[in-house]
Amino acid sequence: MLQFKSLGSGSTGNATLVAARQSGMSTRLLVDCGLGIKQLDERLAQAGTSANQIDGIFITHEHADHIGCARALALRERIPVWMSRGTHAALNTPDFDGLLQIASDGVAIELGALQVMPFTVPHDAREPLQLVCRHDQARLGIVTDLGHCSTHVMQHLAGCQSALLEFNHDTTLLAQSAYPPFLRQRIGGNYGHLSNDAAAAMVQGLLTHGLQCLAAAHLSRQNNRPELVRQSLQALPGIQRLDLHIADEIEGTAWLDA
Ligand SMILES: [Zn+2]
Ligand SMILES: [Zn+2]
Repeated sequence: MLQFKSLGSGSTGNATLVAARQSGMSTRLLVDCGLGIKQLDERLAQAGTSANQIDGIFITHEHADHIGCARALALRERIPVWMSRGTHAALNTPDFDGLLQIASDGVAIELGALQVMPFTVPHDAREPLQLVCRHDQARLGIVTDLGHCSTHVMQHLAGCQSALLEFNHDTTLLAQSAYPPFLRQRIGGNYGHLSNDAAAAMVQGLLTHGLQCLAAAHLSRQNNRPELVRQSLQALPGIQRLDLHIADEIEGTAWLDA
């Protein structure tokens, strides 16, 4: 069984727990650590687990809302950490005391009962990777920061039954926001963040490839609202069959079956 739970998602911090359970054993992967270590410990406890039960950490890119306490957690618990060479370089090559593993586009990672496939995404970081997690026949796509949907991204996500996907902003709210023009352009640009409409267009494609469960994530507190996410999806063919969840900035989501 493959399950996932957002531990919180938004511009103040992102972390997602993925668990593959097989005959009483679990493999747990923490995707991003964009929280303080005390906060993360609390949220892991709320999720019914603890840091010493995490088998691996995958860091998608160097932005602060994804890195957070990654190094402190890895060193404290001796957990291996995967990230791209570019992400490590962008962080000024911190020493992970032998725990660092380099992740690359298209190179599968085997972690216990989990298989992880990283892939590059267009986003304004040095070498950002997002990922598909697989256990048996179940596939979960995780894409929290995406400027636009490239063919490469869609090729990896097609066939996932579940996805945690960025729904960052409503384009009207962003245009009307008090953000300075350069920031509006960065967020709405090709290497920024995904609008509700762009994310909904991706979901439309993924529905035709068997998507059943969606967690909308990384919502902007200023430029988005859960009801606008729902509105962006409501007209899609087949949407009534989709199990839709919206990750809260603090509460994340419940445990969901992938
Ligand atoms: Zn980012
Ligand atoms: Zn982010």
